[in-house]
Amino acid sequence: MTVAENFRAVKKDIARIVADHCRTGDVELVVICKKQSVEMIEEALATGQRVFGENRVQEAQEHWEHLRLRYTGLQLHLVGPLQTNKAKDAVALFDVIQTVDRPKLAATLSKEMHEQRRLLPCFIQVNTGEEAQKSGISPIELSDFLEFCVKTCRLKITGLMCIPPLEEPPGFHFSMLQRLAHTHNLKHLSMGMSSDYEKAIGWGATHLRIGTALFGGREDEDDHHPQTS
Ligand SMILES: *Cc1c(COP(=O)(O)O)cnc(C)c1O
Repeated sequence: MTVAENFRAVKKDIARIVADHCRTGDVELVVICKKQSVEMIEEALATGQRVFGENRVQEAQEHWEHLRLRYTGLQLHLVGPLQTNKAKDAVALFDVIQTVDRPKLAATLSKEMHEQRRLLPCFIQVNTGEEAQKSGISPIELSDFLEFCVKTCRLKITGLMCIPPLEEPPGFHFSMLQRLAHTHNLKHLSMGMSSDYEKAIGWGATHLRIGTALFGGREDEDDHHPQTS
């Protein structure tokens, strides 16, 4: 299957699931292009896709340095962990930061956004499985952290993001994220990847992060699950 055929199939599938669940409101497809070549990304762009996600700042810069000049209407999401020393570059390049996960990062992003005059929409990453090796704020700390982000740092927090533990059924985690977003009056929910987007849509996902189902496997994939070390 070509990238274009995969896109058609996945979009059709998403439309069917959205209809099955009588969902209203948009479900945004964020195409994850980590470890893909620029040629593959251009095949995605040729289908009309404009919303993309990356999990590393440096790779994103390499991918988008030239593409950004040639395509309009792009929206780039950062979906991987962000080191504070890369915050400046991240604010300059991305349009949405999905992985705000600790006070030091929130404060640094706040300073950078202020300096660059770019108030980007942000999501808080929640470590729903409380996994030691995964980033994200623990669910119990979310209320205080959200208040810190909004009141102290003046970040524009619009939603929550999670990556369920690899070895568990994801529904529990998706339902937790939905409940947390509802409690805190946040409208965006970034959850659901190639293997579990159907479940995620059922639990109210507004942003799906899909790579493999569109591009096929990634080369040299040693760290198969995101954000584990
Ligand atoms: C790689 C990655 C995805 C996409 O995973 P696929 O299984 O390839 O669809 C989604 N979210 C994050 C944070 C990722 O790192």
